[in-house]
Amino acid sequence: MKSININLPQNGYSVFLGDGIFNQLLKKSKSLKLNKNLFFVIDSNVYNLYSAQIDSIIETYNGKAKFLVLEVNEKLKSFKTMQKIYESLLENDYSRDTLLIAIGGGIIGDICGFVAASFSRGIQSVQVPTTLLSTVDSSVGGKTGINFGNTKNIIGAFNQPNFVLIDVDFLQTLSHEELLSGLGEVIKYAYLTNQQFYKYIGKNIAEVLDKNPKVLKRIINESVGFKGDVVVSDEKETGNRKMLNLGHTFAHAFEVETKYKLKHGQAVIVGIASALFLSNKLGLMKKSKMDELLELIYLFKNEIKFGKINFDNAISIMQRDKKNRNGKIKFVLLQDVGNILLDVEASRNDIIYALKKGIGVFR
Ligand code: NAD
Ligand code: MG
Repeated sequence: MKSININLPQNGYSVFLGDGIFNQLLKKSKSLKLNKNLFFVIDSNVYNLYSAQIDSIIETYNGKAKFLVLEVNEKLKSFKTMQKIYESLLENDYSRDTLLIAIGGGIIGDICGFVAASFSRGIQSVQVPTTLLSTVDSSVGGKTGINFGNTKNIIGAFNQPNFVLIDVDFLQTLSHEELLSGLGEVIKYAYLTNQQFYKYIGKNIAEVLDKNPKVLKRIINESVGFKGDVVVSDEKETGNRKMLNLGHTFAHAFEVETKYKLKHGQAVIVGIASALFLSNKLGLMKKSKMDELLELIYLFKNEIKFGKINFDNAISIMQRDKKNRNGKIKFVLLQDVGNILLDVEASRNDIIYALKKGIGVFR
């Protein structure tokens, strides 16, 4: 089992990564001397697939352990679900000495992280991510929260878990669509990190879609290690952490404009394509470099279908993005792999050019 350390000064923690390590969950929490009153919140799809393994952990535990199974969809990230979890905790006499364990994808993880930040003014928590996206992205870094009105992730807290346990065995039951969604964030790391990882990803897309455990472990290890370092450098996203939004400003507009038919990961891939075109248009990246870096995007040509969007709407959506201030749209752009520019502004015409070119790849 690998251990990746997120070396935050006050609230550092480890991410344990391996295959077949889920049964070490309680051993880890014991050796870290975490709270003994356990409350599990579990994604119903994961529970249906892995009830034997999950039950055996809960049933053999000689202490207090209860669980709640929730059926996930994006609407679950609401105050109603928070209330349901609080109620269940209170009905079962849980208080501040609780360890909340989230088992599922980013939806379960985001909600549980916020419950852990707020219940009884803060309780301990563990993330057991079970989707590719949640292993490489949402389970690490401490962004937690729910949606409100039509705005995603607008209510929440920065709250780091006490540890994260990634068992790649869970990923074997993911659908092609969910793998693709996680791959969007993996591709993002390919551009943010270094040439070596960029090339490795390019060569191994088929292996990821084939769920090769060795490849998955390597990719998760690199991605989490990279994200961890970025988070350590800027936990609350006042600077450096913004780089993790590469492709996301465009992606957000694509998701909303396609009424979420385009999944987040797919939207991020198209968004990165647009970011590459914009980088070139603004003179930050040579055309030859852009063509070279579009190669990785082209590998997804047959995986992503893009219809028509309204460019005016897309721009208004980007202006309303919570990461932008006073209607000014700021982009994360690239000069090269690992050579990142933050807070770049662009003219309306250049943004429309980048939107069109990015989408054009998938026509
Ligand atoms: P998800 O939690 O909806 O899971 C996707 C689907 O996969 C669900 O249907 C789920 O039941 C199913 N599933 C989960 N594990 C499975 C398994 N092992 N086998 C088979 N099916 C399984 O989606 P997600 O992509 O994991 O997360 C998306 C959420 O994460 C969004 O709400 C997004 O806002 C959030 N997010 C948060 C952060 C952060 O930093 N906190 C970062 C990125 C995304
Ligand atoms: Mg994302």
